[in-house]
Amino acid sequence: MTGPELHDLARRLFPICRSITGEGVRQTIRVLQEFLAIECKSVPSGTKVFDWVVPSEWNVSEAWLADSSGARIVDFADHNLHLLQYSEPFRGMVSRAELENHLHSLPDQPGLIPYRTSYYRQAWGFCLSEQQKKTLSDSTYQVQIATSLSPGVLNYGEYFVQGRSSEEILISTHICHPSLANDNLSGILVALNAALHFTRNPAHYSIRFVFVPGTIGAITWLATNQEKWAAIKHGLVLTGVGAGEKFHYKQSRAENAVVDRVSELTIRESGHPFTILPFSPYGYDERQYNSPGVALSVGCLMRTPHGSYPEYHTSADNLEFLQAGALDDSSALLIQILANLSANRVYQNLSPFGEPQLGKRGLYATNPDENMAFLWVLNLSDGSHSLLDIATRSQMPFGQIQIAAERLLEANLLKCVG
Ligand code: ZN
Repeated sequence: MTGPELHDLARRLFPICRSITGEGVRQTIRVLQEFLAIECKSVPSGTKVFDWVVPSEWNVSEAWLADSSGARIVDFADHNLHLLQYSEPFRGMVSRAELENHLHSLPDQPGLIPYRTSYYRQAWGFCLSEQQKKTLSDSTYQVQIATSLSPGVLNYGEYFVQGRSSEEILISTHICHPSLANDNLSGILVALNAALHFTRNPAHYSIRFVFVPGTIGAITWLATNQEKWAAIKHGLVLTGVGAGEKFHYKQSRAENAVVDRVSELTIRESGHPFTILPFSPYGYDERQYNSPGVALSVGCLMRTPHGSYPEYHTSADNLEFLQAGALDDSSALLIQILANLSANRVYQNLSPFGEPQLGKRGLYATNPDENMAFLWVLNLSDGSHSLLDIATRSQMPFGQIQIAAERLLEANLLKCVG
């Protein structure tokens, strides 16, 4: 899909009130199922998942705040950021002073509505702009929060692309934010695009895409899919890829894992400006995948790191902030990283005694770079260097090293050993 097509899809997904559980996640997965046969998995509330428990399911029928004249001045129907996520049901008249404890605004960004959650502490509340909050001068207000918090399920989406190998790459993106575009619709859209690409063009690795609610969803996936861990060789969390000039790649806990090296090389070769961030145990779901008992090599591909831009977790992270061009570039980059991971094989030179004679095999090229690529691949293909090692050491483009290896393979000068 092109950037503008992805942006159109964002327009459909944007108004849905997603949370860590509830109808919004199911509705989002149903829209994605129009494009791909993503499975919608359900894990019942109360299920123990490592140190956590799957929470009650939260759904909203209506939520509004009315002034003393009965006029609805803050209404979930107008913007789903207006309701504190996981608000418990409440109905009644409250004083302005009491209401103060339940209002969330951003004094430093007075025109914006903040995104706030209270998943694990029972509360109710409204989010509104500081400008609007300042106009609330009545002595009492009517609160109507018709939500339900009851046993249900936590849903996540999963889609598997079979590659030539049973070894896998994991791509994880969160699916729990309501009307926020860059965080997190962009990750969902770019993951969908890569899944479409590799469904049509399978590569060496199988690729498992998971669309999980942040934190509890990733932990639930890990706890209920432990048999899948062993096949996962590399992974990426994808988030904040729909806005911002620059790419940011956050390394895995191992810091120098193959996924870290391939991602950095691919971003560098793409010509985009970028920054490499060291691992830290905060941020997105990479912290779950890199926890010491799980220890998967999972990096995080972003343009905008969490908390680093003024639109983050506010009503300004909207469809105007989301850029079709960024969705396009991010899709191309993710697809290239996955393709390079797949192409990063280890070969053995089958004619290692002196240089093999390239000319008699029609491989002697007039282009000196092409010749150098053959010589580097032949020299370092001793069964222990990968194409990534060879590209790094030769300082030649990965694609050129890859093409040289393919041609040497066709000429029976190499065999693949890993
Ligand atoms: Zn977020």
